[in-house]
Amino acid sequence: MDSKTLHKSSFIPTPLYIANKSCVINVRNMHDELCFIYSILAVTKRHEVAFGAMKRQGLNRAIRYSKYLKEIKFDSDKMPMRIEDIPHFESKNPRLAINVIKYECEDLSENHTSFFKLVYKSRYFKDPRREAVCLLMIGYENKFHYLAITNLNRLLNHNKTDMLNIVAEKWCPRCLQSFSFVKTFNDHPCVSKRACLQ
Ligand SMILES: [Zn+2]
Repeated sequence: MDSKTLHKSSFIPTPLYIANKSCVINVRNMHDELCFIYSILAVTKRHEVAFGAMKRQGLNRAIRYSKYLKEIKFDSDKMPMRIEDIPHFESKNPRLAINVIKYECEDLSENHTSFFKLVYKSRYFKDPRREAVCLLMIGYENKFHYLAITNLNRLLNHNKTDMLNIVAEKWCPRCLQSFSFVKTFNDHPCVSKRACLQ
């Protein structure tokens, strides 16, 4: 049977622990496996997409990104993107530097042991012509899904109260280093060379 007739979807709902942090966009790709592509667009185009009365509400709707799909070079047959295929993808898309963090958890309920693991760091992260895009990978061996990370600090700062706006650590979405002080963050090469976007 042709697998394309099955309307396979890579979609996985956002785990509660992540959802509570309001730091990702999980595009609902219910009819395809393009989560990697939609998540890149949710990082790079969300300010264009979030306009007018719709504002942030529609940011998880795949259709809102469809007009931008042609701006990215990818092979639909190779989706969802495997980690080992990302270098080839980056070579075809010279405006992007992709970083992938994997959310590893025992289960998706509230009480679980979880951690974040860097599974792909772009070798182009120092290139200021490329936009740094951080993606969150969730799921298991045979079923995985990508989300757009829109606030790396909230995602990775585990035990602080997100709403108080206290910057205990700042994470760089480009080099993925953490900084205890905003000044040291601002002085590090990604920012001082105006390469950082966040
Ligand atoms: Zn940096």
